[in-house]
Amino acid sequence: MSEKAEIKTKIRDVVEGQREELIRLSLNIHDNPELGLQEVKAQKWLCDYLLQNKLQVERGVGGLATAFRAIYGEGRPRIALLAEYDALPQMGHGCGHNVIAAAAAGAGVASKIVVDDYGGSVVVLGSPAEEAFGGKIDMIGAGVFEDIDAVMMVHPDTQNVVAVSALACVSLDVKFWGKAAHAAASPEEGINALEALLLAFNAINSLRQHIRKDSRIHGIITEGGMVPNVVPAYSSARFMLRATDIDYLDTLRNKVLACFEGASLSSGARLQYGWGEKVYAPMKSNYSLACLFGNNLRLLGREIDDSSVKLNFGSTDMGNVSQIVPSIHPEVCIAPPEVSLHTPEFALAAASEEGHEGLLDAAKAMAMTVADILTQPEILKRIKQDFADEKQFAK
Ligand SMILES: [Zn+2]
Ligand SMILES: [Zn+2]
Repeated sequence: MSEKAEIKTKIRDVVEGQREELIRLSLNIHDNPELGLQEVKAQKWLCDYLLQNKLQVERGVGGLATAFRAIYGEGRPRIALLAEYDALPQMGHGCGHNVIAAAAAGAGVASKIVVDDYGGSVVVLGSPAEEAFGGKIDMIGAGVFEDIDAVMMVHPDTQNVVAVSALACVSLDVKFWGKAAHAAASPEEGINALEALLLAFNAINSLRQHIRKDSRIHGIITEGGMVPNVVPAYSSARFMLRATDIDYLDTLRNKVLACFEGASLSSGARLQYGWGEKVYAPMKSNYSLACLFGNNLRLLGREIDDSSVKLNFGSTDMGNVSQIVPSIHPEVCIAPPEVSLHTPEFALAAASEEGHEGLLDAAKAMAMTVADILTQPEILKRIKQDFADEKQFAK
Protein backbone atom coordinates (compact mmCIF):
# COMPACT_ATOMS: atom_id res chain seq x y z
CA MET A 1 0.00 0.00 0.00
CA SER A 2 1.36 3.45 -0.84
CA GLU A 3 2.03 5.86 1.99
CA LYS A 4 -0.84 8.05 0.85
CA ALA A 5 -3.29 5.14 0.72
CA GLU A 6 -2.11 4.02 4.12
CA ILE A 7 -2.73 7.36 5.78
CA LYS A 8 -6.22 7.46 4.31
CA THR A 9 -6.95 4.02 5.77
CA LYS A 10 -5.74 5.28 9.13
CA ILE A 11 -8.00 8.33 8.87
CA ARG A 12 -10.98 6.08 8.22
CA ASP A 13 -10.06 4.02 11.28
CA VAL A 14 -9.74 7.10 13.47
CA VAL A 15 -13.21 8.34 12.44
CA GLU A 16 -14.68 4.87 12.98
CA GLY A 17 -13.08 4.87 16.43
CA GLN A 18 -14.92 8.13 17.15
CA ARG A 19 -18.21 6.87 15.69
CA GLU A 20 -20.19 6.79 18.92
CA GLU A 21 -18.89 10.08 20.21
CA LEU A 22 -19.50 11.90 16.94
CA ILE A 23 -23.04 10.57 16.68
CA ARG A 24 -23.69 11.58 20.28
CA LEU A 25 -22.34 15.07 19.51
CA SER A 26 -24.59 15.34 16.46
CA LEU A 27 -27.67 14.12 18.35
CA ASN A 28 -27.04 16.40 21.32
CA ILE A 29 -26.93 19.42 19.03
CA HIS A 30 -29.94 18.10 17.11
CA ASP A 31 -32.02 17.58 20.24
CA ASN A 32 -31.16 20.99 21.67
CA PRO A 33 -31.72 23.33 18.71
CA GLU A 34 -30.40 26.85 19.24
CA LEU A 35 -30.98 29.85 16.99
CA GLY A 36 -28.16 31.87 15.46
CA LEU A 37 -25.88 33.66 17.97
CA GLN A 38 -27.46 31.68 20.83
CA GLU A 39 -25.61 28.41 20.16
CA VAL A 40 -24.03 28.15 23.62
CA LYS A 41 -24.64 24.44 24.17
CA ALA A 42 -23.46 23.43 20.69
CA GLN A 43 -20.34 25.56 21.14
CA LYS A 44 -19.63 23.98 24.53
CA TRP A 45 -20.06 20.39 23.33
CA LEU A 46 -17.96 20.93 20.21
CA CYS A 47 -15.19 22.77 22.09
CA ASP A 48 -15.14 20.16 24.87
CA TYR A 49 -14.81 17.37 22.31
CA LEU A 50 -12.00 19.13 20.45
CA LEU A 51 -10.19 20.00 23.67
CA GLN A 52 -10.38 16.39 24.87
CA ASN A 53 -8.76 15.43 21.59
CA LYS A 54 -5.86 17.84 22.14
CA LEU A 55 -6.77 20.66 19.80
CA GLN A 56 -6.05 24.16 21.08
CA VAL A 57 -9.44 25.77 21.59
CA GLU A 58 -10.37 29.45 21.64
CA ARG A 59 -14.01 30.36 22.30
CA GLY A 60 -15.55 33.55 20.95
CA VAL A 61 -13.67 34.65 17.83
CA GLY A 62 -14.41 37.30 15.21
CA GLY A 63 -16.49 39.26 17.70
CA LEU A 64 -19.04 36.43 17.94
CA ALA A 65 -19.47 34.88 21.40
CA THR A 66 -20.66 31.53 20.02
CA ALA A 67 -17.90 31.18 17.40
CA PHE A 68 -14.76 29.19 18.14
CA ARG A 69 -11.41 28.19 16.71
CA ALA A 70 -9.70 24.86 17.45
CA ILE A 71 -6.19 24.44 16.07
CA TYR A 72 -3.85 21.48 15.78
CA GLY A 73 -0.33 22.15 14.56
CA GLU A 74 1.38 25.44 13.91
CA GLY A 75 2.71 25.45 10.40
CA ARG A 76 1.39 26.08 6.94
CA PRO A 77 -0.45 25.03 4.93
CA ARG A 78 -3.33 25.62 7.30
CA ILE A 79 -6.60 24.00 6.29
CA ALA A 80 -9.90 25.10 7.85
CA LEU A 81 -12.89 22.85 8.41
CA LEU A 82 -16.05 24.82 9.02
CA ALA A 83 -18.73 23.88 11.50
CA GLU A 84 -22.21 25.41 11.42
CA TYR A 85 -24.57 24.62 14.30
CA ASP A 86 -27.49 27.05 14.26
CA ALA A 87 -31.06 25.83 13.99
CA LEU A 88 -34.21 27.24 12.39
CA PRO A 89 -37.14 28.79 14.27
CA GLN A 90 -39.88 26.24 15.04
CA MET A 91 -38.19 23.53 13.02
CA GLY A 92 -35.07 22.61 14.93
CA HIS A 93 -32.33 21.26 12.70
CA GLY A 94 -34.35 21.31 9.48
CA CYS A 95 -31.13 22.32 7.71
CA GLY A 96 -29.07 19.55 9.35
CA HIS A 97 -26.36 21.80 10.77
CA ASN A 98 -25.80 19.26 13.57
CA VAL A 99 -24.36 16.98 10.87
CA ILE A 100 -22.10 19.77 9.55
CA ALA A 101 -20.80 20.48 13.06
CA ALA A 102 -20.04 16.89 14.03
CA ALA A 103 -18.46 16.19 10.63
CA ALA A 104 -16.09 19.16 10.95
CA ALA A 105 -15.13 18.18 14.50
CA GLY A 106 -14.51 14.57 13.47
CA ALA A 107 -12.47 15.65 10.46
CA GLY A 108 -10.38 17.94 12.66
CA VAL A 109 -9.54 15.10 15.04
CA ALA A 110 -8.85 12.62 12.22
CA SER A 111 -6.52 15.12 10.49
CA LYS A 112 -4.16 15.18 13.47
CA ILE A 113 -2.26 12.10 12.27
CA VAL A 114 -1.54 13.87 8.97
CA VAL A 115 -0.28 16.99 10.75
CA ASP A 116 1.90 14.83 13.04
CA ASP A 117 3.56 13.12 10.08
CA TYR A 118 3.72 15.87 7.47
CA GLY A 119 3.46 19.23 9.27
CA GLY A 120 1.06 22.02 8.43
CA SER A 121 -1.98 22.61 10.60
CA VAL A 122 -5.68 22.09 10.70
CA VAL A 123 -8.27 24.40 12.24
CA VAL A 124 -11.90 23.68 13.03
CA LEU A 125 -13.77 26.98 12.84
CA GLY A 126 -17.11 27.22 14.54
CA SER A 127 -19.18 29.69 12.54
CA PRO A 128 -22.47 30.66 14.15
CA ALA A 129 -25.68 32.03 12.70
CA GLU A 130 -25.46 30.89 9.08
CA GLU A 131 -29.23 31.00 8.61
CA ALA A 132 -30.08 34.47 9.77
CA PHE A 133 -27.09 36.71 10.35
CA GLY A 134 -24.25 35.53 8.16
CA GLY A 135 -21.76 34.94 10.99
CA LYS A 136 -18.95 34.11 8.56
CA ILE A 137 -19.16 37.65 7.18
CA ASP A 138 -18.28 38.99 10.64
CA MET A 139 -15.49 36.45 10.94
CA ILE A 140 -14.08 37.54 7.56
CA GLY A 141 -14.21 41.17 8.71
CA ALA A 142 -12.30 40.25 11.86
CA GLY A 143 -9.53 38.59 9.83
CA VAL A 144 -10.25 35.02 10.97
CA PHE A 145 -9.57 33.63 7.48
CA GLU A 146 -6.37 35.59 6.84
CA ASP A 147 -3.95 32.77 7.66
CA ILE A 148 -5.99 30.00 6.02
CA ASP A 149 -4.94 28.27 2.78
CA ALA A 150 -8.11 26.31 1.97
CA VAL A 151 -11.54 25.84 3.49
CA MET A 152 -13.95 22.91 3.47
CA MET A 153 -17.37 22.26 4.89
CA VAL A 154 -19.92 19.60 4.02
CA HIS A 155 -23.67 20.20 4.06
CA PRO A 156 -26.17 17.33 4.26
CA ASP A 157 -28.70 17.15 1.43
CA THR A 158 -30.58 14.68 -0.77
CA GLN A 159 -27.69 13.85 -3.10
CA ASN A 160 -23.91 13.52 -3.12
CA VAL A 161 -22.37 16.45 -5.00
CA VAL A 162 -18.97 18.08 -4.91
CA ALA A 163 -20.10 21.61 -5.70
CA VAL A 164 -23.23 23.70 -5.30
CA SER A 165 -24.00 27.15 -6.54
CA ALA A 166 -25.30 29.83 -4.21
CA LEU A 167 -26.69 33.20 -5.18
CA ALA A 168 -25.57 36.63 -4.08
CA CYS A 169 -28.24 38.04 -1.78
CA VAL A 170 -29.21 41.29 -0.10
CA SER A 171 -32.22 42.15 2.04
CA LEU A 172 -34.32 45.30 1.87
CA ASP A 173 -36.56 46.76 4.57
CA VAL A 174 -39.18 49.26 3.47
CA LYS A 175 -41.66 51.45 5.32
CA PHE A 176 -44.47 53.58 3.93
CA TRP A 177 -45.79 56.49 5.94
CA GLY A 178 -49.32 57.61 5.04
CA LYS A 179 -52.12 59.33 6.93
CA ALA A 180 -54.86 57.74 9.04
CA ALA A 181 -58.50 58.57 8.46
CA HIS A 182 -61.90 56.99 9.01
CA ALA A 183 -62.04 54.47 6.18
CA ALA A 184 -65.80 54.99 5.60
CA ALA A 185 -66.59 58.47 6.90
CA SER A 186 -63.64 60.42 5.46
CA PRO A 187 -61.49 58.21 3.21
CA GLU A 188 -60.58 61.25 1.11
CA GLU A 189 -58.58 62.54 4.08
CA GLY A 190 -56.39 59.45 4.26
CA ILE A 191 -53.15 58.34 2.59
CA ASN A 192 -53.13 54.56 2.46
CA ALA A 193 -49.74 53.10 3.35
CA LEU A 194 -50.94 49.54 2.73
CA GLU A 195 -52.08 50.38 -0.81
CA ALA A 196 -48.63 51.86 -1.45
CA LEU A 197 -47.11 48.53 -0.50
CA LEU A 198 -49.58 46.61 -2.68
CA LEU A 199 -48.74 48.87 -5.64
CA ALA A 200 -45.06 48.09 -5.08
CA PHE A 201 -45.76 44.35 -4.89
CA ASN A 202 -47.62 44.53 -8.20
CA ALA A 203 -44.85 46.52 -9.84
CA ILE A 204 -42.31 43.93 -8.65
CA ASN A 205 -44.52 41.12 -9.98
CA SER A 206 -44.44 42.82 -13.38
CA LEU A 207 -40.72 43.36 -13.15
CA ARG A 208 -40.18 39.64 -12.52
CA GLN A 209 -41.02 38.88 -16.17
CA HIS A 210 -38.04 40.90 -17.31
CA ILE A 211 -35.17 39.91 -15.10
CA ARG A 212 -32.64 37.10 -15.54
CA LYS A 213 -34.25 33.75 -14.90
CA ASP A 214 -31.71 32.80 -12.25
CA SER A 215 -32.55 35.88 -10.16
CA ARG A 216 -35.01 35.90 -7.29
CA ILE A 217 -37.10 38.61 -5.60
CA HIS A 218 -39.33 37.71 -2.68
CA GLY A 219 -40.98 39.65 0.10
CA ILE A 220 -43.49 39.67 2.91
CA ILE A 221 -45.64 42.37 4.48
CA THR A 222 -44.64 42.74 8.11
CA GLU A 223 -47.24 45.41 8.95
CA GLY A 224 -50.26 46.39 6.93
CA GLY A 225 -52.67 48.27 9.18
CA MET A 226 -54.47 47.62 12.45
CA VAL A 227 -58.19 47.50 11.67
CA PRO A 228 -60.11 47.70 8.40
CA ASN A 229 -62.08 50.82 9.31
CA VAL A 230 -58.96 52.96 9.65
CA VAL A 231 -56.93 53.90 6.57
CA PRO A 232 -53.50 52.37 7.33
CA ALA A 233 -51.08 55.17 8.14
CA TYR A 234 -48.10 52.86 8.22
CA SER A 235 -46.96 49.71 6.46
CA SER A 236 -43.72 47.78 6.27
CA ALA A 237 -42.24 44.91 4.31
CA ARG A 238 -39.06 42.89 4.09
CA PHE A 239 -37.66 41.74 0.77
CA MET A 240 -34.75 39.61 -0.40
CA LEU A 241 -33.06 40.01 -3.77
CA ARG A 242 -30.80 37.33 -5.23
CA ALA A 243 -28.64 37.06 -8.35
CA THR A 244 -25.77 34.98 -9.67
CA ASP A 245 -23.32 37.85 -9.37
CA ILE A 246 -22.89 41.05 -7.40
CA ASP A 247 -23.13 43.26 -10.52
CA TYR A 248 -26.54 41.96 -11.46
CA LEU A 249 -27.60 42.15 -7.82
CA ASP A 250 -26.87 45.89 -8.04
CA THR A 251 -28.96 46.13 -11.21
CA LEU A 252 -31.82 44.41 -9.36
CA ARG A 253 -31.46 46.81 -6.44
CA ASN A 254 -32.12 49.76 -8.73
CA LYS A 255 -35.07 48.11 -10.46
CA VAL A 256 -36.75 47.03 -7.23
CA LEU A 257 -36.19 50.37 -5.56
CA ALA A 258 -37.86 52.06 -8.53
CA CYS A 259 -40.97 49.95 -7.86
CA PHE A 260 -41.18 51.33 -4.32
CA GLU A 261 -40.44 54.89 -5.42
CA GLY A 262 -43.15 54.68 -8.08
CA ALA A 263 -45.63 53.39 -5.49
CA SER A 264 -44.69 56.25 -3.17
CA LEU A 265 -45.26 58.82 -5.91
CA SER A 266 -48.64 57.46 -6.96
CA SER A 267 -49.99 56.85 -3.46
CA GLY A 268 -48.58 59.89 -1.72
CA ALA A 269 -47.15 57.70 1.07
CA ARG A 270 -43.62 58.58 2.06
CA LEU A 271 -41.05 55.86 1.47
CA GLN A 272 -38.27 54.97 3.89
CA TYR A 273 -35.95 52.08 3.13
CA GLY A 274 -32.75 50.39 4.23
CA TRP A 275 -30.59 47.75 2.58
CA GLY A 276 -29.28 44.92 4.72
CA GLU A 277 -25.71 45.54 5.82
CA LYS A 278 -24.61 42.03 4.95
CA VAL A 279 -24.45 41.13 1.30
CA TYR A 280 -24.10 37.40 0.66
CA ALA A 281 -21.65 36.65 -2.13
CA PRO A 282 -22.11 33.83 -4.67
CA MET A 283 -20.33 30.51 -4.06
CA LYS A 284 -17.07 29.83 -5.92
CA SER A 285 -16.28 26.10 -5.73
CA ASN A 286 -12.55 25.60 -6.20
CA TYR A 287 -12.01 23.15 -9.05
CA SER A 288 -9.06 21.11 -7.76
CA LEU A 289 -10.32 21.03 -4.19
CA ALA A 290 -13.75 19.83 -5.36
CA CYS A 291 -12.15 17.07 -7.47
CA LEU A 292 -10.03 15.85 -4.55
CA PHE A 293 -13.00 15.77 -2.23
CA GLY A 294 -15.10 13.97 -4.85
CA ASN A 295 -12.43 11.28 -5.28
CA ASN A 296 -12.30 10.72 -1.54
CA LEU A 297 -16.07 10.48 -1.24
CA ARG A 298 -15.98 7.92 -4.03
CA LEU A 299 -13.31 5.93 -2.18
CA LEU A 300 -15.83 5.72 0.66
CA GLY A 301 -18.29 4.06 -1.68
CA ARG A 302 -20.60 6.98 -2.38
CA GLU A 303 -21.84 7.49 -5.89
CA ILE A 304 -21.49 11.06 -7.03
CA ASP A 305 -22.91 12.87 -9.97
CA ASP A 306 -19.96 15.12 -10.59
CA SER A 307 -20.88 15.95 -14.15
CA SER A 308 -22.28 19.27 -13.09
CA VAL A 309 -22.60 21.69 -10.25
CA LYS A 310 -25.89 21.49 -8.38
CA LEU A 311 -27.90 24.63 -8.95
CA ASN A 312 -28.98 25.94 -5.62
CA PHE A 313 -31.05 29.10 -5.53
CA GLY A 314 -30.38 29.75 -1.89
CA SER A 315 -27.55 31.83 -0.48
CA THR A 316 -24.94 31.19 2.17
CA ASP A 317 -22.23 33.11 3.98
CA MET A 318 -19.87 30.36 2.78
CA GLY A 319 -20.09 32.22 -0.56
CA ASN A 320 -18.30 35.16 1.06
CA VAL A 321 -15.57 32.87 2.39
CA SER A 322 -15.15 31.34 -1.08
CA GLN A 323 -14.44 34.79 -2.53
CA ILE A 324 -11.32 35.23 -0.39
CA VAL A 325 -9.96 31.68 0.21
CA PRO A 326 -10.09 28.55 -2.00
CA SER A 327 -13.21 26.77 -0.74
CA ILE A 328 -15.69 23.99 -1.30
CA HIS A 329 -19.22 23.41 -0.02
CA PRO A 330 -20.06 19.86 -1.17
CA GLU A 331 -23.05 17.85 -0.03
CA VAL A 332 -23.62 14.35 1.29
CA CYS A 333 -26.89 12.54 0.79
CA ILE A 334 -28.85 11.78 3.96
CA ALA A 335 -32.44 11.79 2.68
CA PRO A 336 -34.44 10.77 -0.41
CA PRO A 337 -34.88 13.36 -3.18
CA GLU A 338 -38.49 14.19 -2.31
CA VAL A 339 -37.46 15.61 1.07
CA SER A 340 -36.51 19.25 0.94
CA LEU A 341 -34.26 21.23 3.24
CA HIS A 342 -35.83 23.49 5.87
CA THR A 343 -38.62 21.01 6.62
CA PRO A 344 -39.46 18.87 9.68
CA GLU A 345 -38.79 15.81 7.47
CA PHE A 346 -35.23 16.92 6.85
CA ALA A 347 -34.79 17.54 10.58
CA LEU A 348 -35.71 13.87 11.13
CA ALA A 349 -33.20 12.80 8.46
CA ALA A 350 -30.48 14.78 10.26
CA ALA A 351 -30.90 12.47 13.27
CA SER A 352 -31.38 9.24 11.30
CA GLU A 353 -28.99 6.39 10.48
CA GLU A 354 -28.47 8.01 7.06
CA GLY A 355 -27.67 11.27 8.84
CA HIS A 356 -25.07 9.52 10.99
CA GLU A 357 -23.48 7.79 8.00
CA GLY A 358 -23.44 11.15 6.16
CA LEU A 359 -21.63 12.81 9.02
CA LEU A 360 -19.04 10.03 9.29
CA ASP A 361 -18.39 9.99 5.53
CA ALA A 362 -18.17 13.78 5.46
CA ALA A 363 -15.63 13.70 8.32
CA LYS A 364 -13.58 10.99 6.59
CA ALA A 365 -13.65 12.65 3.16
CA MET A 366 -12.62 16.04 4.56
CA ALA A 367 -9.72 14.55 6.56
CA MET A 368 -8.66 12.48 3.53
CA THR A 369 -8.64 15.71 1.50
CA VAL A 370 -6.51 17.34 4.20
CA ALA A 371 -4.15 14.37 3.73
CA ASP A 372 -4.01 14.98 -0.04
CA ILE A 373 -3.04 18.61 0.54
CA LEU A 374 -0.54 18.16 3.36
CA THR A 375 1.26 15.18 1.82
CA GLN A 376 1.75 16.71 -1.64
CA PRO A 377 2.80 20.37 -1.76
CA GLU A 378 2.08 20.68 -5.49
CA ILE A 379 -1.62 20.11 -4.82
CA LEU A 380 -1.99 23.32 -2.86
CA LYS A 381 -0.23 25.17 -5.69
CA ARG A 382 -2.86 23.84 -8.07
CA ILE A 383 -5.69 24.84 -5.74
CA LYS A 384 -4.26 28.36 -5.44
CA GLN A 385 -3.76 28.60 -9.20
CA ASP A 386 -7.42 27.64 -9.74
CA PHE A 387 -8.42 30.32 -7.28
CA ALA A 388 -6.32 32.93 -9.11
CA ASP A 389 -7.72 31.81 -12.48
CA GLU A 390 -11.29 31.66 -11.15
CA LYS A 391 -11.39 28.04 -12.25
CA GLN A 392 -14.54 26.76 -10.66
CA PHE A 393 -16.07 23.33 -10.63
CA ALA A 394 -18.27 22.69 -13.71
CA LYS A 395 -17.77 26.16 -15.05
ZN1 LIG B 1 -30.51 26.40 5.76
ZN1 LIG C 1 -27.78 24.95 5.96
